[in-house]
Amino acid sequence: MATTTSHDTVSRRSPTRLPIPQTVRGRYRTIKTCLAVVLLAFYFVVPWIRWNRGGLLPDQAVLFDLPGRRMFIFGLEFWPQDLPIAVGALILAAFALFGATTLAGRVWCGFTCPQTVWTDLFFTVERYCDRLFGKGSVLSRVAKPVVQIALAILTAFGFAAFFNDASTLPSDLVTGAAPTGAYISIGILTLTTWLFAAYAKERVCLHMCPWPRFQAALLDKDSLVVTYQQWRGEPRGKKKMPLRSGLTDLAGLARQASQFEQTRGDCIDCLRCVNVCPTGIDIRDGLQMGCIGCGLCVDACDEVMTKIERPTGLIRFDVEGSETAGSFQAPQIRLVRPKMVLYALLCLGALGSIVFGTLNLKSVLVDIDPQRGQPFVQLSDGSVRNDFSFRLAHRLPSLSRVAIHVEGLPGATLRFPESDNSSEAVEIAMPESRRISDRLLITAAPGKTPSGRESIRLVVTDAESGATLGNVDTYFWGPGR
Ligand code: SF4
Ligand code: SF4
Repeated sequence: MATTTSHDTVSRRSPTRLPIPQTVRGRYRTIKTCLAVVLLAFYFVVPWIRWNRGGLLPDQAVLFDLPGRRMFIFGLEFWPQDLPIAVGALILAAFALFGATTLAGRVWCGFTCPQTVWTDLFFTVERYCDRLFGKGSVLSRVAKPVVQIALAILTAFGFAAFFNDASTLPSDLVTGAAPTGAYISIGILTLTTWLFAAYAKERVCLHMCPWPRFQAALLDKDSLVVTYQQWRGEPRGKKKMPLRSGLTDLAGLARQASQFEQTRGDCIDCLRCVNVCPTGIDIRDGLQMGCIGCGLCVDACDEVMTKIERPTGLIRFDVEGSETAGSFQAPQIRLVRPKMVLYALLCLGALGSIVFGTLNLKSVLVDIDPQRGQPFVQLSDGSVRNDFSFRLAHRLPSLSRVAIHVEGLPGATLRFPESDNSSEAVEIAMPESRRISDRLLITAAPGKTPSGRESIRLVVTDAESGATLGNVDTYFWGPGR
């Protein structure tokens, strides 16, 4: 009777996809849990942090104030005009992601992607309900969707809290005083969170997300990826020789058993690696698009290897192009390589532009545009008036009144439409919103009306200190050329 077994003759078990992946303990599970706790805490806690800005300004540390077209991040206030900083942040995030993928495969997907974090959370809910009420019980089947929908509502509320005052949002929602956008966004996000994390789950990663399609272009032979060490795992199969009845030659039997074991690889085909996998793939079939690089199969297999007293690392993060690939030695990671250097330089460039832009934020923004329609109005006393749209916004700690005057048009007077008095310098109180948007009427002094177009400069000063806050150039139009 043949006592050796080749790879080809070992029967393979076909894994059956579990509806809920099994739990596992280990290094990557711990990292994944810690990161999930930090990210969820960040998401749910940040809108509740307060930051005193004085006056009637919002005291929420991080707030995207869409109606006010501004964003508060602790002591900083950003306006749409600061878009280059946001572009810098996006470039930084993109190249940091490219670098992380080139270095360690889909770590973003496996550890920090919101889809992964929320799906993991929802899987945990399902496991706890099964444990608490009994697997398949009516109570468990009722409790799962109830808790998951509650979590989806909470998630949607957490999102809306970044755009509204978190402290008053719950009562506003109940009393109907919250903005319509809050109800719509909470409704949509509740539905999508439940749909993606409780229903679609890993199907999002497998069939909907475009990122796996891009990542192939980012990986190279030096990238760390989750690999099954086929050279030591195959031929897979049970370690123990099957018992046969009627054998009496114990020494021969022991010899046969020893030979049997020596022909086997380290994989005992227990399917633990498949059963813990959130996307349900069998990494022993090689690197696949469905692998999100979470490392849970590494933990599962290490547990098994420890139990059967074999070296851990049958499944491990490995560098396929490394000299240590195909050996028991730890993989060698090559950090400095052209692609990584390029990404690092681009990240540094983006970071530099963010820092430069933030340090040079304009505190006062003055803008003036001629009103549409006729360029000038001839008044009954013969003088000529031009109408402008005037906008002023500031992010200074305090500014109560501003004064405005014109240069380049001697004797010209100004007034806002709501005032009857024209003067060479007008003063206006700054509202709590720290923004003024109004019509400004500039009238040339009699006898000093320019012929055709004249360059003028509008100067804005702090009415109390006299300090210049900003100026803006425009044209004054008179009759003739
Ligand atoms: S967990 Fe390890 S031993 Fe078990 S099937 Fe997977 S690779 Fe083989
Ligand atoms: S194969 Fe392993 S690393 Fe890849 S998704 Fe499954 S458990 Fe995670």
